[in-house]
Amino acid sequence: MTTTMTVTQAAAWMHAFAAAVHTHADQLTDLDRLIGDADHGSNMDRGMSAVDALDPATFTQAADYLKKAGMTLVSTVGGASGPLYGTFLMRFAAALAGDHTDGTEEFGRALRAGVDGVIARGKADTGDKTMIDALTPALTAYDAHHADGLTAALSAAADAADAGRDHTIPLTARKGRASYLGERSVGHQDPGATSAALLIRAAADTIGTPA
Ligand code: ADP
Ligand code: MG
Repeated sequence: MTTTMTVTQAAAWMHAFAAAVHTHADQLTDLDRLIGDADHGSNMDRGMSAVDALDPATFTQAADYLKKAGMTLVSTVGGASGPLYGTFLMRFAAALAGDHTDGTEEFGRALRAGVDGVIARGKADTGDKTMIDALTPALTAYDAHHADGLTAALSAAADAADAGRDHTIPLTARKGRASYLGERSVGHQDPGATSAALLIRAAADTIGTPA
């Protein structure tokens, strides 16, 4: 099976996400301190450093590389976010099947599979104040801009993920540790939605940016 996404593109995406997570690690941890247990930045930084340490040259297909990246997150990240991001990447990878365009169709299908995987695993609905509140708007925006091509669709998805992240502030958490706080979670930005927005922005900055 030959995918349209190359190993080089997939690795550039993961490298950009790892770098963004590293830069924002303290912010992610501080957000998690307010409504969780102050480990989201360190969790994600540890996991994405391990992903970034994978050697892309040992993979011939983007799907194999991203599957391994997902498995690496599951095995290195404690907490809720490891299995959820791991599921996202493994489902994303499994849905890569090539297309006859610039990859717009393929990425859209894979993004849908990844988001559906996170929903199936974490059982969060939109509005529950989780990473889903960044990922679902990203998918909706991507699909809405599908006809404009990969660069435009990814850029719209990244903007929608940022907006979704911001919209978690007034929400009451209904899933994960933050849900233990109930109403006291209101007024704080969700850490997982914050990292998920970085993931989609990293895709726009790499895969969505013509070389
Ligand atoms: P933990 O909560 O185990 O300490 P992290 O701090 O790494 O794990 O990640 C917390 C983030 O995980 C939350 O901000 C939220 O976005 C996300 N999350 C938690 N539970 C779920 C869920 N059931 N579905 C989707 N996302 C979730
Ligand atoms: Mg935490």
